[in-house]
Amino acid sequence: MTTSLSFSELGLRPELLTSLASINYQSMTPIQAQSLPSLLAGKDLIAQGKTGSGKTAAFALGILQNIEPRSFTTQALVLCPTRELAEQVATEIRRLASAIENVKVLSLCGGSPFKPQAASLEYGAHIVVGTPGRIEDHLRRETLSLDDLNVLVLDEADRMLEMGFEASLDAIIEQTPDDRQSLLFSATFPDSIQSMAQHILRDPEHVKVESVH
Ligand code: ADP
Ligand code: MG
Repeated sequence: MTTSLSFSELGLRPELLTSLASINYQSMTPIQAQSLPSLLAGKDLIAQGKTGSGKTAAFALGILQNIEPRSFTTQALVLCPTRELAEQVATEIRRLASAIENVKVLSLCGGSPFKPQAASLEYGAHIVVGTPGRIEDHLRRETLSLDDLNVLVLDEADRMLEMGFEASLDAIIEQTPDDRQSLLFSATFPDSIQSMAQHILRDPEHVKVESVH
C-alpha cells in the first residue's frame, strides 16, 4: 500500500523524520504522496480515500510540521465522528509527535466527564482531537478557545453529516480564524459534502485515491 516515494524529500522538520523512522514508516502511501506537498504548502485540501489509505498520517504530518510547543494555545483541531475514531487519531498524532518535545495532544469526546477535560484544557493543548458535540460544549462554556487555530481537519466528514453534526460543525467553524488552513477528508462525496466544502474551504486542492493498493 505504499509508494516508492520517501518522506525525506518533503522538507519535514527533522524530529518528524525521527518519529517516522521509529514507527517504521519508510515510504508514503499514495494519498500521502498526493496530498503532502500541497498540505505542507499551507493549501486547503479535499481528500477522498478508502479506509486504510493512510489519511491520518497525512494530516498529522501537516499539523505537526508547524506546531510551536512553546506557545500553549490550541493550534490544530481535528473533528471526528466517533470517540473510537478520535482516540485512534490522537494515538497516531502522538506517535508522530513523539520526537518533538512537549507537544500535548488532547482528546475531547462525549461520554467522558466534562470537568476533567476542562481541567486538562487549563494547561493548554497544542492539538485537540474530538467529536463535534463535545467540542461545541467546550466552546460554549469557554473552556476551549480556537482564537489561535492554524489548522482545522474534518475527518470522515461524510459520517459526521450522516450523524447529524452539521449544526455543531457550523458553530465550531464560526469560532475559528478565517485565515486557518482547512482539510476535509471523506470516503464519499455526496452533494451535502460538496456544499459544505464550498463554504469551508478556500481554493482547495482535490486528491482522490481509489484503491489502497
Ligand atoms: P485511513 O484514515 O485512511 O483509513 P489510517 O490513517 O488509519 O487510514 O492508516 C491505516 C494504517 O496504515 C494504519 O495502521 C497506519 O499505521 C498505517 N500507515 C499509514 N501510513 C503509513 C506508511 N507511510 N507506511 C506504513 N504504514 C502506514
Ligand atoms: Mg481515517
